[in-house]
Amino acid sequence: MISTQATLDEQPIPIREAGEERLRDGHGRAITDLRLSVTDRCNYRCVYCRTGTDGAQYEDLPLAEYVRMVRLFVSLGIEKIRFTGGEPLLRQGLAELIREVAGMRPRFSDGELDLALTTNGHLLEQMAGPLKAAGLQRITVSMDAVDDATMTRITRVPGSFERVLAGIRAAQAAGLGVVKVNCVLLRGFNDSQIEAFAEFSRAEGVIVRFIEFMPLEEPSAEDNGRSWSPERVVGMDEIIARLERVRPLRALPANHASETARRFTFDDGRGEIGIIAPVTHPFCGHCSRIRVTSDGKLRTCLFSQSDHDLAGRMARGASDDELRQWIRGVVQHKEARHHIGEPGFLKPSRSMVHIGG
Ligand code: SAM
Repeated sequence: MISTQATLDEQPIPIREAGEERLRDGHGRAITDLRLSVTDRCNYRCVYCRTGTDGAQYEDLPLAEYVRMVRLFVSLGIEKIRFTGGEPLLRQGLAELIREVAGMRPRFSDGELDLALTTNGHLLEQMAGPLKAAGLQRITVSMDAVDDATMTRITRVPGSFERVLAGIRAAQAAGLGVVKVNCVLLRGFNDSQIEAFAEFSRAEGVIVRFIEFMPLEEPSAEDNGRSWSPERVVGMDEIIARLERVRPLRALPANHASETARRFTFDDGRGEIGIIAPVTHPFCGHCSRIRVTSDGKLRTCLFSQSDHDLAGRMARGASDDELRQWIRGVVQHKEARHHIGEPGFLKPSRSMVHIGG
């Protein structure tokens, strides 16, 4: 139990009134998915994600405040929570936080909350077992290469490939589902890895998901060709064509309407590939997500130009009912979609690592 005053004061999730509406945005989309960043710190400095600036730029909150936030969102209809960062495995007390959240029940459906985590995997070998025991169900590991030299060039941490591989295997052994391995492709950095990732999926029994590079960072002086440009994006059609040369692909059905990945296996049914194409094939129409940053700001879209100070309202003494009403109002104005590639597109007010990916 995370035993701070904030948790002790907490009310249980109230009984649902007949006819009570779940959280929806102004476009009628049910909001069921929360991404919660539990720290802004990261132990990798991936060339495209974290600029040359080391260290966190935003504070972490006490765990009890995250617990209160999650409880509020669950009472409004959130059913899926993904813990992220920064690097979430750096956060002291993460397993206790997950244990606390695992004790909550969804309010608008039977069963359990869906609890997942996104990590760079560097500390996963030791932590997979304790996280599973705490109630974590699924894990996604970010890994942008399947060879040591390319991985080190991207993460700027020597030996990262071996560490992450050990973490993936430990997560599979701990029963954290079929591990998803997310790879962001940057032309000229790791687009040579596509075929090797196909083999990796088949050999390791993991789901490999290729993600199109999105414009989230401001270009920096020490650019080295790593800033976003349309040319640097390796798009879905090109990825599919390259994979087809490994073996013929077979499309798999989506798991649910708000699935972001197009899913494939190979002709012999071994291996699974997902392609997430926010740039060339946007999927905002079914978006069911909101995000809370490590410092407790509510964001309604990855590309939002502003955020909303949930932690500040909590600190000033707002009641749970007041916060629920406020959250409903903020979510009403969730953006219809992002505008990547359109004239006048603006990068978000924070980059991915400071939002929570
Ligand atoms: N440290 C954790 C991890 O590595 O998974 C969680 C945070 S990290 C920011 C989450 C994911 O965002 C990583 O898979 C990373 O590759 C991805 N990411 C960061 N910048 C991106 C960008 N510009 N476009 C697409 N994905 C990006």
